[in-house]
Amino acid sequence: MQTNFTLAQLADPDIANSEKILRSCVHCGFCTATCPTYVLLGDELDSPRGRIYLIKDMLEGGKAATAEVALHIDRCLSCLACMTTCPSGVDYMHLVDHARAHIHETYRRPALDRLTRAGVAAVLPYPARFRAALLGAFFARPFRGLFSFIPGLSRLAAMLDLMPPKIRTRGLERPAVFPADGERRVRVALLRGCVQSVLDPRINEAAVRLLTRNGVEVVLAEGEGCCGALVHHMGRTDASLYAARRNVDAWIREIERDGLDAILVTTSGCGTTLKDYGFMLRNDAAYAEKAARVSALAKDVSEYLEALDVCPPLPPSNLKVAYHAACSLQHGQQVTTAPKALLARAGFEVREPAEAHLCCGSAGTYNMLQPDISRRLRDRKVANLTATGADVVAAGNLGCLVQIGGRIDLPVVHTIQLLDWAYGGPRPDELGG
Ligand code: SF4
Ligand code: SF4
Repeated sequence: MQTNFTLAQLADPDIANSEKILRSCVHCGFCTATCPTYVLLGDELDSPRGRIYLIKDMLEGGKAATAEVALHIDRCLSCLACMTTCPSGVDYMHLVDHARAHIHETYRRPALDRLTRAGVAAVLPYPARFRAALLGAFFARPFRGLFSFIPGLSRLAAMLDLMPPKIRTRGLERPAVFPADGERRVRVALLRGCVQSVLDPRINEAAVRLLTRNGVEVVLAEGEGCCGALVHHMGRTDASLYAARRNVDAWIREIERDGLDAILVTTSGCGTTLKDYGFMLRNDAAYAEKAARVSALAKDVSEYLEALDVCPPLPPSNLKVAYHAACSLQHGQQVTTAPKALLARAGFEVREPAEAHLCCGSAGTYNMLQPDISRRLRDRKVANLTATGADVVAAGNLGCLVQIGGRIDLPVVHTIQLLDWAYGGPRPDELGG
């Protein structure tokens, strides 16, 4: 794609990077076929190619974002299916991240939209605030039906839909070290994060059990917190870079104290962001090298277990598992085979749904901010997963578990919970007695 940025514009490293990305797009349109919003809405402006044109026009003209640009960029799930499909290797992720930041800086959203986004950014990344909000939501839930009929409050209704049926007791929220059982083979950090530590602490507990049983010492680092993905995808650059720097500092301290073989993540949406810290902080002289080091160590837990080769083959069980590939894992990190291979080796019969490449509509805060499109994608995903005839659904991302679990008539668990159970841990509650 031809571009016409001025030399003065190209002096901005973000513009220079976006220009390089724009020039790599050859307008072929292959990406439209796998874009969930284009598949649903059929509008070129809701396809990757259409969004690329909108972004080019906005950045090249040095313009403030318009309501039209914000509408179509907001509808993008950042699922990155387009990157998997693109034959030219267009780095759509960094282009749309730049566009979101530009929109946040230059576009004044309607008041209710501003309020909702500010509320999400102020609550979700902080476990104590989020836990308090869940308590409030518990009392508001009976009025959910009413909210869905009041114009402007459909997002609130969507948020209440995502509430878990019960609020769990505190999990692995504090810094800690879990020694390896027997001789220590390696030492890793595990991201505690934010939302997952409140909504389902059992996921990281399962990871700690499985890892320590296999000679891995697991550290929950002091000072680490939300990875920054939630605010990053809302274009709030300052907040996401603050989170990234804080986490880089926390893990560099651990590396210098006793070394780290990897930084593991059980929520693939966060994993994609950790792997991007090197890029996010590339222009920060004080952090660029440290952030690149952290990104190089970041691994999805399934990716790491597969490479560590500690899960031996087990006899087949009669449990059929529909594996839901989270977009952040399959498109964002290109981790596609490890979770399925691990489940199969643990004796489960792995089934894959039709349209496995399509997003379930969760996408970070998307299911709260774009509830209508999100629901349509969820229902399509639920139908495809149900059609596999499986007994249970497994996925590697909390957002997908909440999104799908709220609708499907099957137990939905994290892949690591099934692996932990197969290799000696407790049976996940969802599977009953
Ligand atoms: S597939 Fe790639 S090169 Fe083709 S239009 Fe889409 S982003 Fe551009
Ligand atoms: S990230 Fe997903 S929703 Fe956005 S343009 Fe690409 S395929 Fe479409």
